[in-house]
Amino acid sequence: MRKNIIAGNWKMNKTVEEAVELANAIKLELADCKDVDVVLCPPFTALKAVSDVISETLINVGSQNMSSEDEGAYTGEISHTMLKELFVRYVILGHSERREYYKETDFWINKKVKKALDKNLRPILCVGEKLEDREAGSTESVVEVQVREGLKDIPVSAYTELVIAYEPVWAIGTGKTATSEQAQEVHAFIRSIVKDMVGAEAADAVRIQYGGSMKPGNAPELLAQPDIDGGLIGGAALDATSFAGIVKAGM
Ligand code: PEP
Repeated sequence: MRKNIIAGNWKMNKTVEEAVELANAIKLELADCKDVDVVLCPPFTALKAVSDVISETLINVGSQNMSSEDEGAYTGEISHTMLKELFVRYVILGHSERREYYKETDFWINKKVKKALDKNLRPILCVGEKLEDREAGSTESVVEVQVREGLKDIPVSAYTELVIAYEPVWAIGTGKTATSEQAQEVHAFIRSIVKDMVGAEAADAVRIQYGGSMKPGNAPELLAQPDIDGGLIGGAALDATSFAGIVKAGM
């Protein structure tokens, strides 16, 4: 049985003060949540403050990116050591906004996934097709490349640690959710790719989140699908009641 994992990606939102307020509101609702792994991913500037708020709860903190390098002349980057100092446990890697606006490629994303695992951080690897891919009937081929390249040379033992987030780009921040059937179809496909790469046991263990306009209203149906193991939440993660509503749907 895979445990659902619900992560809130706060993106470039919230000052430290606002982040503390949101984290406190979420803590009131979810501090003792055992049935779902809950992860808050504030901007780098608020990681420490949010970690302080949720210390002594079951809530985890994640970052929205991480460098593939250890240290040195990499202006503007943040390392695994720096993140771990702030009690970060998860790292979102290869989000479609990073692929699109900062031209992150599968090669670099794979380097980051490897580095994270090597340093005992849990990667959340984001994959997903654009609208034009779906319309061209290329959803599976696009997602397959992202999964195979993003997880290239990852040892089979890591599949219980890492998380894959399937996020159709056309559903992110648009209010358009994939139907539960559309999402389930791609999730099952991703699991079949993992099975082909590393075997049935790892494919059965790996958690695959859905992301793209998930809200308390559509979460129950999405999370009821057999291959959907949680959600990566953008907009709705900025409101404690909505975020907690999604987590409760996953219990
Ligand atoms: C995201 O950016 O990962 C995301 C799923 O955003 P939203 O929930 O706003 O669509």
